[in-house]
Amino acid sequence: MTSKAWLSLGANIGDPPAQLAEAIRRIGENPDIAVAAQSSVLITKPWGKTDQPDFANMAISIETTLKPIDLLDVLLGIELAMGRVRDEVWGPRLIDIDIIAYDRIELKTPRLTLPHAHAHERSFVLDPLRQIDENVADWVLESAARPR
Ligand code: AMP
Repeated sequence: MTSKAWLSLGANIGDPPAQLAEAIRRIGENPDIAVAAQSSVLITKPWGKTDQPDFANMAISIETTLKPIDLLDVLLGIELAMGRVRDEVWGPRLIDIDIIAYDRIELKTPRLTLPHAHAHERSFVLDPLRQIDENVADWVLESAARPR
């Protein structure tokens, strides 16, 4: 059975837009994932820790036969593979990939919270998400507002 999922991608060292494109290429290469839609790339100011370069952020939607936890493992594998810098055993991580939503599933496990625990409070996640799917962006906000 095919499910739909929405991912948030971010990068702020190296060549951020190129790394977003590379991550999407790798995601689409997975035989169990098809990339359905892509937002534009948004350049955003870092928040929290502000003394670091601007971020490039975007959202994509995918269709996948992977269960949520298996999707998470695939995405973590791509993060790890892309985070490896030549001549260093473990270089800086150059890409962050989060699962914002998976169908309309709500769950909280030690490894995975859906929808993503912080998505509703981050415009750099919600704005690109809204570009590709307004309904799921509204659902993320509704889910966060609902007592659980
Ligand atoms: P970070 O590197 O800050 O993005 O954190 C990654 C970790 O957050 C992963 O190892 C996951 O186990 C955990 N996590 C919990 N919920 C999610 C989610 N919806 N998407 C991605 N990672 C998640």
